[in-house]
Amino acid sequence: MKVGIVGAGMVGSSAGYALAVMGLASTVVLVDHNHDLAVAQAEDIAHAVPFMSSTIVEAADYDGLVGAKVVILAAGVSQKPGETRLALLERNAAVFKDVVGKVLSVAPEAILLIASNPVDIMTQITQRISGLPAGRVIGSGTILDTARFRSLLGRHLGISPQSVHAYVLGEHGDSEVLAWSNAKVGSLSLAEIAAQVGSPITRDVRARIDDGVRNAAYKIIKGKGATYYGIGAGLARIVKAIARDQHDVLTVSCVMPEVGGVRDVALSIPRVIGVDGISADLMPDLSSEEFEELEKSAQLLKDSVESIAL
Ligand code: ADP
Repeated sequence: MKVGIVGAGMVGSSAGYALAVMGLASTVVLVDHNHDLAVAQAEDIAHAVPFMSSTIVEAADYDGLVGAKVVILAAGVSQKPGETRLALLERNAAVFKDVVGKVLSVAPEAILLIASNPVDIMTQITQRISGLPAGRVIGSGTILDTARFRSLLGRHLGISPQSVHAYVLGEHGDSEVLAWSNAKVGSLSLAEIAAQVGSPITRDVRARIDDGVRNAAYKIIKGKGATYYGIGAGLARIVKAIARDQHDVLTVSCVMPEVGGVRDVALSIPRVIGVDGISADLMPDLSSEEFEELEKSAQLLKDSVESIAL
């Protein structure tokens, strides 16, 4: 399967690296308006491949995306000094207008996988620009937040994260919602398993895990200026579900008709992903408090999207 990546910066190249070392694509094509950067990233990643897989990694212009089954959109511009968040959003929306049109003109069948931040808003913008069915425009959303939630819970309980089923919903950002009431380990509720293994979820434990999930990115950015390996691997994980038609349940962002009272908004909930993109939304059973938080998150995202002139 050919996978395209538009935007060969830190996030795009990390996704390319993860795809290549995991051998998830026959070909990875990097496109960037800084072509020299795309060439350099492709060559650097290609040097790692002989040790791990047989993926071909190359740089190209848009016509190199012909036949791509998935195209990751990781292009973006960074904030100029003094620029407002809204102005930045509008500049990124303009980048996407340009990029999405070019991608679809050569790869009209592709599933679009959005990585650029703010990812929920960029996902909604892409769906609007492209006019594609919502299930073919997938944002990385809270895939990383959910992974972090599962791993911190697993570590506390002494259980593999793979056996912990817990989701982070809503915005990939400050208003995200940790769905504690719905968390399960194997088939047991969190309270049952915590009692059985003698590791209660006290108020302090909960606060520590909540902070670990919510503020992970801030801590990484403070230390190294940006986050990219984690999201690169998360994007590769989504591609794996598509490439192998696995029908995996992953928390990703997608435009949905309604969340509580908020209509037509992109945010994350668990979704089934296979070769055709998203085939089902799985809204978890939430406590009334969690549902209220999710509705607030939806409203906040909707307000942001409405404020952008497209
Ligand atoms: P991130 O950390 O999110 O990856 P970067 O700034 O490292 O951010 O990468 C963003 C990439 O997107 C840059 O390499 C930039 O050249 C690219 N880019 C910006 N605008 C466009 C565009 N219109 N078409 C293609 N690539 C673009």
